[in-house]
Amino acid sequence: MSTSEDVKPQISTSLSKDLSDLAEEKQVVGRKIWRIVPYVARYWQRALGGILANAGARAFDLIPFIAIGMAADYYQSETFTNTTIESLVKLEQIPHIGPIDSVEIGFGLLILISFTFLAFFQGLSNQLWQSTAYKAQHDIRMDATHSLLNMEASYFESRQTGNLMSVLSSDVAQLEDIISDASTSMIRIAITFSTAFVIMFWMSSKLALILFAPLVIIIPMVVWFSTRVQRKYRKQRESTGGIVAILENVLTGITVVQAYNAKKFEGSRIEGQSGEYRDMAIQAAFIRNRFIPGIYVVAGISFGLLVSAGGWVMESGEITVGQFVTFLLISTRMSMPMFILGMLLNQLQKGEAASKRVFAIIDLEPSIYDSEGAVPLEDRISSISFENVKFAYPSSDSNTLNEISFSVSSGGFLGVMGHTGAGKSTILKLVERFYEPQSGKVLVNGRDINEFKIESLRSRIGFVSQDPFLFFGSIRENVSYARDHSEKEILAALEAAGSLDFISQLPDGIDTMVGDRGVMLSGGQRARISLARALLDDPDLLILDEASASLDAETELRIQESLFDSSNDGKDRITIAVAHRLATIRKADEIIAMVDGAIVERGTHDQLIRNGNVYSSQWSIQTGELETEVG
Ligand code: ADP
Repeated sequence: MSTSEDVKPQISTSLSKDLSDLAEEKQVVGRKIWRIVPYVARYWQRALGGILANAGARAFDLIPFIAIGMAADYYQSETFTNTTIESLVKLEQIPHIGPIDSVEIGFGLLILISFTFLAFFQGLSNQLWQSTAYKAQHDIRMDATHSLLNMEASYFESRQTGNLMSVLSSDVAQLEDIISDASTSMIRIAITFSTAFVIMFWMSSKLALILFAPLVIIIPMVVWFSTRVQRKYRKQRESTGGIVAILENVLTGITVVQAYNAKKFEGSRIEGQSGEYRDMAIQAAFIRNRFIPGIYVVAGISFGLLVSAGGWVMESGEITVGQFVTFLLISTRMSMPMFILGMLLNQLQKGEAASKRVFAIIDLEPSIYDSEGAVPLEDRISSISFENVKFAYPSSDSNTLNEISFSVSSGGFLGVMGHTGAGKSTILKLVERFYEPQSGKVLVNGRDINEFKIESLRSRIGFVSQDPFLFFGSIRENVSYARDHSEKEILAALEAAGSLDFISQLPDGIDTMVGDRGVMLSGGQRARISLARALLDDPDLLILDEASASLDAETELRIQESLFDSSNDGKDRITIAVAHRLATIRKADEIIAMVDGAIVERGTHDQLIRNGNVYSSQWSIQTGELETEVG
């Protein structure tokens, strides 16, 4: 149950990640793109149906060509049997086509039927593949979302939200393109190539060799293209993330942007990212626009050789004119896939860049998770203690908390005071298990906190952070957040949090919308709704981090009375409150005073005042300030 054993190493440093990216760039077909295969394989029946329907479509696509070739040979034989020398002269050697016979009608019908089946199978194949793509895309996005939601809070502290958002939106959408579009093209190319290849070799191996031999040139071209363009596409995706990240930041802090006349400043930051995107896109286009036309030229060599060599092969008697026509028509079907091949490889390279970002998220592993053998916390929280806890943030060299010990049990109230940066909020984060201590123990009901399942622990704690966050939605939705409670319970929580007076003034009452992050409410109102959210489940342990800092003294007093009424009401709730305003924690059973991560003083208000130390000097400053204000 040791805490340090439970902390898995961070996935990878950004440096090693960059290095592995560089290694992957040397690959023609990236490694990550294959990770979408299992997502498609989940719907294998649908996908297989799509492939079979596509094969059907390709077969019906080729039948008209065979029919046209046979018709050409048939008309030629008709011409010579039905036409006299005179009529040839009279018609200036234009072959006479006689009245339409049943064979000719048969050819026409065969083509009509083939087109009808082609349309049916193509539609069916598209439907099956596209629906597979949407399903796979949804699964990939949900896996990435769950992976992110499982990450510990500290993961997000060093990441830009906008960047993560762009992975979940545009990178995942890029993968959908690969599945629905690129993979259908791939299947189409594979089926067309293989069937055409077999038919053509069967018809004339000489002509087939002439057609296919130049295609070998494409291989080095593909290597050249893929190894160069991949890096550009990766940078493009990163810039997209960068743009979204700055936009998200700017829009969230729009009032600061406007107050500091920072429109130009922010505009130039976005321009930097957008400019990088533009430059990378142009460079990628420069590579792409040499590669794709290059494929056209190779196709030109193939067809040119084929047409030129046609007479020679027909002369050798290997094929008839009609068969040569069929051969030419089928080879035109080869040309399209060749052109698509260029586009497809391009799309695959883009997909590889997107896959790297998406699967890097899916592969994330939280460093804080339920320990092996963890059990749900079924009893009420009756005590919480710290035993010689030492803690340093991952990014910090020195300890933020040093040898912290305290204990608070049922019905108890622990007050925490100290200067800014002393480590008060960090203590609360360890209680919530957002972080784990490097040494020492956090105990709940006398047992190591790691012995309990995290969700069961948190469901018994009410947490009001320093910066209360409200979601876009109504007051009701924000209070009952992610839980199912009756209106009566919501109103009771709002009352305990001293919010009913201002809510009754609002036109829509508890259904009033609070705006994005609660911007339509005052700081004090937001704090009270956040407190109501914490109180709704009647927590065993209430953690308040400067929760009343934005409240006036009178409101705070009222809320305190209601809180302590309820905790004295046989509920035995434990309260831990961090407060800068000492009046907030004056009634605490124990107050700990912190300086630079260590507890320097502890006791009740009266004891600490008598000590004449940190607490008492702070108290006199604050009461002095109050007297001055009153005066
Ligand atoms: P207090 O609540 O007493 O004002 P905190 O517990 O928030 O202080 O912070 C204690 C110290 O830890 C500060 O020096 C602060 O800069 C640092 N700190 C807080 N959060 C983080 C973090 N996520 N990563 C690194 N350092 C942090």
